[in-house]
Parts: sequence; C-alpha cells; structure tokens
Amino acid sequence: MLKIYNTLTRQKEKFKPLQPGKVGMYVCGVTVYDYCHIGHARTYVSADVVLRYLRFRGYEVNYVRNITDIDDKIIKRANETKEDVNTVTKRFIQAMHEDFAALGLAQPDHEPRATKYIPQMITLIEKIIANGHAYVGANGDVYFDVRSFADYGCLSHHNIEQLESGARVEVTEVKRDPLDFVLWKLAKPNEPFWDSPWGPGRPGWHIECSAMSMELLGEHFDIHGGGRDLIFPHHENEIAQSQAATHKKFANVWIHGGFLQIEKEKMSKSLGNFVTIREVLREHEPEVLRYLLMASHYRSPLVYTPDTLNQSRQALARFYTALRFLPNAARAANTSFEAAFIEAMDDDFNTPVALSVLFELAHEIQRLREKDKDSAAAHGALLRYLGNVLGVLTSDPEVFFKSGATVDSTKIEALIAARNQARHEKNWAEADRIRKELAAMSIVIEDSASGTTWKYVK
Ligand code: AMP
Ligand code: ZN
Repeated sequence: MLKIYNTLTRQKEKFKPLQPGKVGMYVCGVTVYDYCHIGHARTYVSADVVLRYLRFRGYEVNYVRNITDIDDKIIKRANETKEDVNTVTKRFIQAMHEDFAALGLAQPDHEPRATKYIPQMITLIEKIIANGHAYVGANGDVYFDVRSFADYGCLSHHNIEQLESGARVEVTEVKRDPLDFVLWKLAKPNEPFWDSPWGPGRPGWHIECSAMSMELLGEHFDIHGGGRDLIFPHHENEIAQSQAATHKKFANVWIHGGFLQIEKEKMSKSLGNFVTIREVLREHEPEVLRYLLMASHYRSPLVYTPDTLNQSRQALARFYTALRFLPNAARAANTSFEAAFIEAMDDDFNTPVALSVLFELAHEIQRLREKDKDSAAAHGALLRYLGNVLGVLTSDPEVFFKSGATVDSTKIEALIAARNQARHEKNWAEADRIRKELAAMSIVIEDSASGTTWKYVK
C-alpha cells in the first residue's frame, strides 16, 4: 500500500486517488528566464520518480507540468538583453527541453504555458471577486483578500498573524492586508499586456497555476507538488484562490521536495550560486546526476559538492559491474528483492532504501555469476527493470564504463592493439609500458578469454 507524506496533514497517508486507478498530478514548472540549474533537476527528478513509480504501481497518471512564461523576472531579463519577452522565453524553453530530455525525465502529458491560459485566469478572478474574496486595490490592481478566507494558512500551518510576522511582505496603502496578493496587475508602459475587465495587464503568478491545474485536471484533483519554497506563499495562495472560487477542496495530496544546497545555502538563480544542468552533463553521464539526486530522500535537504558526483559514478559503476557480460534473460520473478524494493518505494518513495535493495541484488548477481549463470542473468534483468523504475541503469555497461574518457576511443583502441601485438611478440616490457601509458590517462584494461576491454576510471 503506497503511503505519501502530505504537507497539508503533516502525515504519511495511504494514497487513495479520487478515481480508482487514475491519478491527476500537477507540478509547478520553471520560470523561463535562464538555464535550469541542478536545484531544478532535483525537484523534477523527484517528480519523475513519483510519476514512474505511480505508473509502475499500475496507475494511469495524467501529469501536468506548467511553464511560467510571463513574470517580472522574465520582463527584467528581456529589458537587460534588449530582446522581446517571447524571444527570451523561447530560448530558455528550448534549453529546458534539451536538459530535461538529457536527464531522461518523462514528458508531461500536458505542458501548459501561462500566456495561453489568460482567458481562464480572468474567468477565475471574476469568480473570486463575485464570491467576495478579492477586490480592486487603490492602484487598480486586483488583490485576493486573505482575511476573507478562513482556511488561509492551512498548508503552511500558521495563522495570518504568524505568517505576517515571518514573511517579508510589503506594507502598502493599496492593499487591505499586507498578505493580500495580486491576481491581476495593470501593465506599466512597455510591458506585455492582455485586455481584462480591470484594464490591460497581466496575471499574478499564483493565479496561473490555479487556472491551469483546474482546467487540465478538474477543480478537485489528486496530487500537487513542487520544491518546499513553494509551500508559502505560492501553494498557500493557490489553495485560497481555487477554493474561494469553487468552494471545493483543491488538491488532496501536497508533495514538497527538499532543497539542493551549495555549502548550506540554497542554490538559486537570484543568489547567482548555481550550477546548470548542462554544465554537469558536459562532464558526467545523466544517470550520474540522477543517481546523486535520488541517493537522499526527496524531502531531505541535499548538499551538493562536485565530489558527490564522483561518488555517484562509483555507486553506479557497482551496478554496471554486476550487469557486465550477462546474457539477455527473462527477469527473475517473485523475488524478495522486488518485494523489498516495493516496500521501500511504497513508504513515501524512499529511494535511498530502494537503492540499498538494488545493491543487495547486485551483490547476489556477483555471487551467482560463477555458480548459476542463468540465475545471474535473470537477476540481472530484474536489476535493470527495477533500476529503470528510478530512471537509471538504462545504458549498456560497456558504454557506461567508457563514458567520460577524455581521450579519443580510437587512440585507446590503437594502444590496446599495439599492446596485444607486443604481448604476441612476448615483448613484455613494451606491453607493460603501454598499459602504464593507458593508466596515466585513467584507462584501465581488462583481459579475458573474449579479448581485451577497457574502462575509464575517474
Ligand atoms: P523556479 O523556476 O524558480 O520557479 O523554480 C521551479 C521549481 O524548482 C520550483 O518547484 C522550485 O521549488 C524548484 N527549485 C528551485 N531551486 C531549487 C533548489 N535549489 N533545490 C530544489 N528545488 C529547487
Ligand atoms: Zn505553481
């Protein structure tokens, strides 16, 4: 039985979808004004693991991940680069798609862009006003009236007074309460705008996600997620807006991931301390980054250092060593390994424990290798199958071991051929010299009955 930790109730709960066998899941997407960093990768790899595991457990998942393609930061960036907002967003959406594909993230079933849902946002704001939960402020912008919504604070588990003292909220004359947040912002000169009953302007960030999620998943749906910085105010505000408009519960389960940090600081674009996904993938296999991000539980903070990437590569190398030289086979069925893997993942997607089960399985393969080749191959197929649920172990082991080599493979193959020739001529000194030359380039060679193979060892 799958249990998920729900931020709303602060408990692990048995997961029960609204419709048997079907799940609607919305994850807040990227604001596209720069390249995605590995903090983003953490949140979206976690979402990808949740998605893959739900599908593995037989659910039909409708996965929605939006794109925020209009916002103050995007407008600022466009002004800096003297480009049109659309040119900026187009460039970074393309880069995001490239990075996410390289990371092996499953495509969302819907990828709504905020600018394509303006009419739905306007209708939603009209409903909120009609229900008495929003007002036009002194400056003409439309604000949500937090004090009119009795449940405000239900997700972050604070009341309005606590939230007010803890948050950096601007006090202005135009709002009734400092926590009131904007639903519709009137356009300033030279800003993109859409017509609305309140004048030309653009939507606030929070209303975007309420409108897009309800349009694509219905007013009441199963899972809503994102990084934990979104709990307050973004998700708190989404709940307030949506429930004020529909008088129905919005999302049942709220999943929030821990932050990726650099030396105890949050990695973020605004702090300027970020490492992009593409920088990491220039030097490392995508699975190495995925592994690093899954090796801690999704809710705990994760401190990144370049060394953690090397450790992840070594961990993956243990799996690929177990998979090496195994013939194709049907996977071993009804094993205690599969049961333990499911038990771990059913417990709020506990990937560190699930990976430790896979290490035991890899160990078992090595034990069986000499004794029972068929059983080793069947367990190898199981290891791949369960690894694939987490989006890893998708490579050919030989390709994995050769990845990252800084020397051209034809040069390596030529040196190996020269060494084999020297050995053939019993010129052991020359053969040894070549082996050392390769070792100096971090290339380790292995001789077996079927010939010589090589690996790149960092
Ligand atoms: P943004 O593009 O800043 O709106 O962020 C998109 C998503 O990435 C949100 O769910 C954030 O919570 C998440 N995110 C941003 N920075 C980090 C980080 N350092 N670690 C984990 N998730 C992050
Ligand atoms: Zn959102």
